[in-house]
Amino acid sequence: MAMHILVSNDDGVYAPGITALAEAMLPFGQVTVIAPRENRSAIGHRKTMHKPLRIDPVSFAVKGVAAFATSESPSDSVAVALLGFIKEPIDLVVSGINRGANMGQDLTYSGTVSAAFEAVIWHKPAIAFSLIDVSEDADYRPAAAIARQMVALGLYRNLPPLTLLNVNVPPLPLEQIKGFKIVRQGLRTYNDALITRIDPFGRPYYWIGGEAPSGDMTEEGTDLWATHNGYVSLTPIHLDMTSYAVMRELEAAGIERLVPGQ
Ligand code: MN
Repeated sequence: MAMHILVSNDDGVYAPGITALAEAMLPFGQVTVIAPRENRSAIGHRKTMHKPLRIDPVSFAVKGVAAFATSESPSDSVAVALLGFIKEPIDLVVSGINRGANMGQDLTYSGTVSAAFEAVIWHKPAIAFSLIDVSEDADYRPAAAIARQMVALGLYRNLPPLTLLNVNVPPLPLEQIKGFKIVRQGLRTYNDALITRIDPFGRPYYWIGGEAPSGDMTEEGTDLWATHNGYVSLTPIHLDMTSYAVMRELEAAGIERLVPGQ
C-alpha cells in the first residue's frame, strides 16, 4: 500500500535534516518535498497574504524525490501544496527534521511545527520531527530512523481533527537512545536579551540575542524531561488553545450573568 508523503521544514529546502527525512520516507512510496528556499526558523505560523508566492523546482539530493523551493514560510509551502500545487493526493505530511528542539513554548515560534499545523488545518495527518542538536555536523541518521519507525507504526492514522504529533529526538547514537516517552509540553526558559546598537547613520537598531533557551528538565512527564533523560519525546498537540480550566473559573465567577456595560 504505497503512500504519497509530503515533506517540509523551516530550515530550508537545502538543509541536511530535510534530506534525511525525505530519504527515510522513500520506503513508504512517493515523496514530494516543498519547503522555503531559505532558513525560516522561528517564523511561526505565517500566512503570506500581501505579496506573491514564488515556487521553483529544485534538484534534490535524494534520487526519485521531486522538490520545490518556495519564497515564503513553511506553512505557506504546505498550504500551496495541499491547495492544488501538488496534483497527486497526499496521505501524510511530515516536517523536519528540524535543526534544534521544538519543546515547551517553542511550538508557538516553530516553523517546523507550524508546517504540521497547516497540514491538520487542511485535514491531513501530520508529524513534526526535531533533533536536539544545532551543530553544523549534527548526525540526522538516528532521528531519520526514528521518523521511519514512527511512520511505519501508522499512529498518525487515528488522530482526531486538528491534532498532530510532535517528536523530539535527543542528540545520541541510536543504541544510546533509551526509548520513547509520551509526554506533555514542558516549561521553557528563554534567556533572550535585547541588544541595542547604532547604525552607520547614528540611529539605534535592536536585535533579540542572548543565550540559548534552557528549561525545566526535572518536571517528570514533559518533553524537556524525556529528552534530557535520553528518550524520544512524543507529544500529541491540539490546535484548540482554549484553557478549559479558566473557562470553568470564569463561569463560576458569574461573568455570564452580567448585564453588559453595568
Ligand atoms: Mn528550524
